Parts: sequence; C-alpha cells; structure tokens
Amino acid sequence: MNSLYPESYETSRARFLRDVELLGLNWFSSRLDSHLLKNHPDLSIDWFWAEPRDKQNLVIISTGQHGIEGYIGSAMLKVFTDEFAPRLNPENTGLLLVHTINPWGMKYNRKVNENGVDLNRNFTFDGIFDPSSNPHFLQLKALLAPDAPVRSFGVETIAFAWRTIKALISEGASALTYAALLGQYAAPKAMYYGGTRHEDGSLVMMELFGQALENYQTIIHLDMHSGYGPRYLMSITLVPLEPLNSAELSAKFSYPLVLRGDHQEFYATHGDMTEYFYKLRDEKFPNKHVFTCAFEFGTYGESLLSRIRSLRTMIFESQLYWYATRDKKTEEKIRHEFSELYFPAEEKWREKAISDCRKAFEGIFNAYGIL
Ligand SMILES: [Zn+2]
Repeated sequence: MNSLYPESYETSRARFLRDVELLGLNWFSSRLDSHLLKNHPDLSIDWFWAEPRDKQNLVIISTGQHGIEGYIGSAMLKVFTDEFAPRLNPENTGLLLVHTINPWGMKYNRKVNENGVDLNRNFTFDGIFDPSSNPHFLQLKALLAPDAPVRSFGVETIAFAWRTIKALISEGASALTYAALLGQYAAPKAMYYGGTRHEDGSLVMMELFGQALENYQTIIHLDMHSGYGPRYLMSITLVPLEPLNSAELSAKFSYPLVLRGDHQEFYATHGDMTEYFYKLRDEKFPNKHVFTCAFEFGTYGESLLSRIRSLRTMIFESQLYWYATRDKKTEEKIRHEFSELYFPAEEKWREKAISDCRKAFEGIFNAYGIL
C-alpha cells in the first residue's frame, strides 16, 4: 500500500510521466506539457491532457499546490490513473492531470513556494493583494509572525503557549483561527502569506481553467490537500459558491464528510483556487457546469489542542526557515512535526487515506454519471 506514496519529488514526477504516457493511448489525443521554474530549472509543473472527440466532460485532478502535500496528492493521482481513469468513457470524457503546482515546496518539504507564498491565498480574482485585508493578523503578529531565530523547542513552546493563551482570552478560539488561516498580504516571512502578484504556479492553473471552460461542458475538479480536519477521515471541502449545502452534497456523493466552507463549517480564506475557478466560470462561461472541491486529508485531528499544535507547527516551521536556529535537535523536531502535519508516516493513516479517496472518487464520478 505504501508504495503508492512517493519517496521524493523526482520519483513522483518520473512515475507520473510514465503513467500518463500509457494512459493517453486510450484517448483521441493526448499531450504532456510543463512549466520550468525560472530560478530552479530542475523543477517543473507538469500536466497532461487526454482529450476525447466529443468534449462533454472533463475531470481535473490537481496536486501539490501546497508543496509538501504533493506526496499525498501523488498517491491519490496514482489511484486515479490506475483505477478510475480506465473506467471513464474516452469518447466524451477528457482528463487534465496536474502533477505538483508547487514543485519547489514538494522538493524542499515546504507548504509555500520558492517565494514564500501560499498559493492557496494567491488566487485573488481581482488581482488585488491588500496588506491591510487581515488586520487581526497584524494585531497578533508577536504570536503568528515571530521574527527572531528559534531558541530551543521547549523555550519557544513556553513563549508560544503564553501568547496563545493571551490571544484565546482576548480574541476567542474562532477569531484566532480566523486571523491565522484567512491569509495575509502584510508579512512575507510568515505563514499564509498570499504574495504581491499572481505567482507562476497560479498563472499556470488560471490558464488551464480558462482552457477547460472554453472547451468542455461539465468540469469536475478535485484538488488534493492535507492537514485540516479529523484524523483518519478525509473531508471534501468546498467554497460557499457551490449551490448545494453540505448535507445535500454528502448524500449526492455517498461520502460521510462534506464541508461547505464558510466561517461556521471550516475556515474562510482569501485567494482560494477553487473559489477563483467558480468566479471565472460565473464571469466568463456562465453556461458551463463546474464542480470544484478540495480533498482534505486530516492529520493532527480536530480538538482544540490539536488545532493549537498545528498552529505551533506552522509558526515554528516558518520561523525556522526565515530565521534559523542554532539547535540541531530543535530543527529536527520542527521538521518532524511539520512532516507529520502534512504527510503522516503511520501505515494505518496512509491506508485509510487511500480508501477514503477511492470512496470519494467513486461517489463523485457516479453522481455525475461518468463512471
Ligand atoms: Zn493544502
């Protein structure tokens, strides 16, 4: 089972290139394309089109928007190419498979890209990256964006705990989560930074969304993520622009956990990719049918303590990257925590993730009548 999860960016990419070459033979036409990173020509975003004669439906699977989450994304892409793509009708259903929107982050085990940008806060539809859009983040800067070298893990944890308790008392848990996760355009050396312009990975996806909408009637886009949600249960998460509510979607897809993201159900964000896709459809292709969502493979869990631990991991990892530490053990501990947040090592976790993914693919593709 674990062989579905790749060891490295390079092995994952090589496997993808091999798999799609064979897969393409079943379709009317197919092509592979890539975008090399400007300052890292050994890294690329690779995507594959398999196109039918009659362009009715298109399935898009995208992975690695948050680099380190690309390892799980790669496993799910493999499940799709091996088990589901062969069951689709190549006469009227096309494929667009994207291997790693953020290859630098996948290679170096970071969530953000080579410019420190969280690509899922970078898809602003109006192209505005407003530094004042999240004033709460700035108020909580001492907690959320520390700007000094990391001392030992223990000392930093005490400081973190103290600041978190103060923030919980003054702001409350949901306001703290909101400020932390919304995205921010003010602190380039902190987590959830959305950048100052559309990054290359975002521009590639925007271009692909445009091509998909221009050519196909119905588009199903599934984007692979990890970190958020209950451990051992993947959540299908959607932006509020999707018309059906969570319960209706859960029934439609025969899948136990669907969350339509507003402040109540999970968390609000600025510059979300799937939201961008819906808005593009609404503005330029209102007659096309789009369903776009993220598969969120939960890792730490959902309790308040788990959420605080995940906040600590995010803050420490960013601080370590930008301000370093002299303590080797602290560095190892932070890297381990980060890896467990986005790519858990436990066999049982990995097996359950694969079986949830299968169930969701089955439910969604059946609901759209394409299996
Ligand atoms: Zn993610």
